[in-house]
Amino acid sequence: MIKRKLFAPLLTGVVAVGLLAGCGANKANESGANSEKSEPTAKTAKQVVNIYSARNYDVDALLYKKFTEQTGIKVNVIDGKAEELIERLKREGESTQADLFLTVDGGVLNNAKQAGLLQPVTSETINQNVPKKFRDPDNEWTGLSTRARVIVYSKERVKPEQLSTYEDLTSPAWKGKVLVRPSSSLYNQSLLSSFVELNGEEKAEEWSKGLVANLARTPEGNDRDQAKAIVAGVGDVALMNTYYVGLLLNSDDPEEVKVGQSIGVFFPNQDTSGTHVNISGAGVTKHSKNKENAVKLIEFLTGAEAQTMVTNENFEFPVNAKAELPELLKSWGTFKAQQIDFNKLGAHNAKAIEIMNKTGWK
Ligand code: FE
Repeated sequence: MIKRKLFAPLLTGVVAVGLLAGCGANKANESGANSEKSEPTAKTAKQVVNIYSARNYDVDALLYKKFTEQTGIKVNVIDGKAEELIERLKREGESTQADLFLTVDGGVLNNAKQAGLLQPVTSETINQNVPKKFRDPDNEWTGLSTRARVIVYSKERVKPEQLSTYEDLTSPAWKGKVLVRPSSSLYNQSLLSSFVELNGEEKAEEWSKGLVANLARTPEGNDRDQAKAIVAGVGDVALMNTYYVGLLLNSDDPEEVKVGQSIGVFFPNQDTSGTHVNISGAGVTKHSKNKENAVKLIEFLTGAEAQTMVTNENFEFPVNAKAELPELLKSWGTFKAQQIDFNKLGAHNAKAIEIMNKTGWK
């Protein structure tokens, strides 16, 4: 009998799950990263699924915990920025320990697919949980939630009747009143990408230029900071993802709750191209060593129970229609969303960044 070397358990101590709320803002959190150099786990080892995640909200940790309780499969997470994780997957190639790649942008999901980093999955459960429009046509990634990038406004100083479209934010009426986070945010890059797709480069550039001309301040902070700046009187309107309104209203910090209560949510472009919506999703990596477990996790994350948790804890829109919505989302009602291929958000990303640089969006 061949003597086997005893391998250290895979990724021991690399459970770095969503300690920082809000995605994309934090640096890769890889405490105990040394142990991740360990050799592949022995067959007798515990069942695991290893995630590279650019999605790190508090609800994610709760979901993984529940999944482990139900299946006995341990979930290990390495958090990082999407582009860093994609580079890492490329670098690691066949030797990667990652089974799943999670991120919050349809364009990035498609980039991972185009780079050959993902593989198709076949699952009746996933197909039933998630409508086709929220899945990659080749099933290389599956949507987990959607998010709308809307206009939020000061309830004190703005009437919703004054609002209409993203384009209108460039009109003289909003001079010095518009707040938005920096152009480095993928949320803004994809918003502008959607305009390139829908209206063409020229119009997209015009919009970016007009928005910059109306800014209340040089872009800084994250989405929630824009809402806080409205309440502080820096500006009157801001571009923001809807779930951050829910997170503010349900914050442990009374000041944040006050901010949430002081702003209104407006879904723009209802009579035109619709409100910009992006998708958060997951794809099984091409060289996954635990594919079955990875598929099981996607099935779980898209199931009614997990989807209800996602929308009630993080206020994103579920992809599974069986999820129960929280009162806040019910109060917003239904809205018209942009009808574009999520893949296009990635296809126009470089152009969007070029436009932002050209028009002085810091
Ligand atoms: Fe976010």
